[in-house]
Amino acid sequence: MSQTPKLRAELDGIPTYKPGKPAAADGPVAFKLSSNENPYPPLPGVMEQAIAAAGTFNRYPDMACTALMAELADRFGVPVSHIATGTGSVGVAQSLIQSTSGPGDEVIFAWRSFEAYPIITQISGATSVKVPLTEGDVHDLDAMLAAITDRTRLIFVCNPNNPTGTVVRRAELERFLDQVPSDVLVVLDEAYREFIRDAEVPDGIELYRDRPNVCVLRTFSKAYGLAGLRVGFAVAHEPVAAALRKTAVPFGVSQLAQDAAVASLRAEDELLGRVGSLVGERQRVLETLRSQGWTVPETQANFVWLRLGERTVDFAAACEKAGVVVRPFPGEGVRVTIGEVEANDLFLHAAEAFRKEL
Ligand SMILES: *Cc1c(COP(=O)(O)O)cnc(C)c1O
Repeated sequence: MSQTPKLRAELDGIPTYKPGKPAAADGPVAFKLSSNENPYPPLPGVMEQAIAAAGTFNRYPDMACTALMAELADRFGVPVSHIATGTGSVGVAQSLIQSTSGPGDEVIFAWRSFEAYPIITQISGATSVKVPLTEGDVHDLDAMLAAITDRTRLIFVCNPNNPTGTVVRRAELERFLDQVPSDVLVVLDEAYREFIRDAEVPDGIELYRDRPNVCVLRTFSKAYGLAGLRVGFAVAHEPVAAALRKTAVPFGVSQLAQDAAVASLRAEDELLGRVGSLVGERQRVLETLRSQGWTVPETQANFVWLRLGERTVDFAAACEKAGVVVRPFPGEGVRVTIGEVEANDLFLHAAEAFRKEL
């Protein structure tokens, strides 16, 4: 009898990561508001750097990401030895789990939160401990504290939370960090940091400084508009940062990505100007939805969350018909990225029409 290769039992039942649906190629207009991408094309200077780097892709990239690490260390005022880069911040998150957790260990995170957390946890053989969000779709930090056991190795705090856009503020987060045992790593996933306008939301990089068990995750995929290049990074003390450099995929960050990331940091004023426009659109979308009668949680990210329950799939279909692809979580709700003005308008019209039919 022929048999199939033996695969690890931990892989059974892993949901495959669902990327945001692409915009339909054949429709009249179609905007992709399903993956929280930046709608603006790359900045001219960034593009030139990337094109120049493309001329060397017969060579391996700089494995140590020297120039990017130096730029980041300077930008955030942290030692180079506290930085680790990776293939997107999801790549770094996977290294964090691999560095801390295996079979028998527990990884705590809020739910619903970022879809990648349960997947990368299960791949490692560790157990996901999902702590429900509060009624208001916010992290329940007290319940997360109560979920800690001697098997807990890592806790994700997604701030702002994907897909709800809600935040945890300084006082509650500091109180939480003060109570987490010092041998449990807390990962502050700040993929949407640049979109935050609430002054009470702390900058993770300030919180990590005197806390050796805190690690901050950032990405170039969202505000910086480099989602397709796969580059993200962590800021953490030794020995966490060193462990991340050990477990990273060798040569994972291409030279194109490294050079484009450096150029993006140098073009930060212009990039953050674009982020400012998106934040303005976020406010407009939020206020318009509320004036239509929707209940929408306050969001500090580049998306809004509509808790539609059983009507989720129908709503997503109605949006698609109207020319915008959104991200449904069947039975729960819909996450809609803030895009270009025209896309946001199409979405708002679809939401208004759907509302009137309820
Ligand atoms: C988009 C996102 C990321 C970033 O993913 P990359 O791998 O850097 O593209 C990380 N965390 C959260 C919560 C996100 O929404």
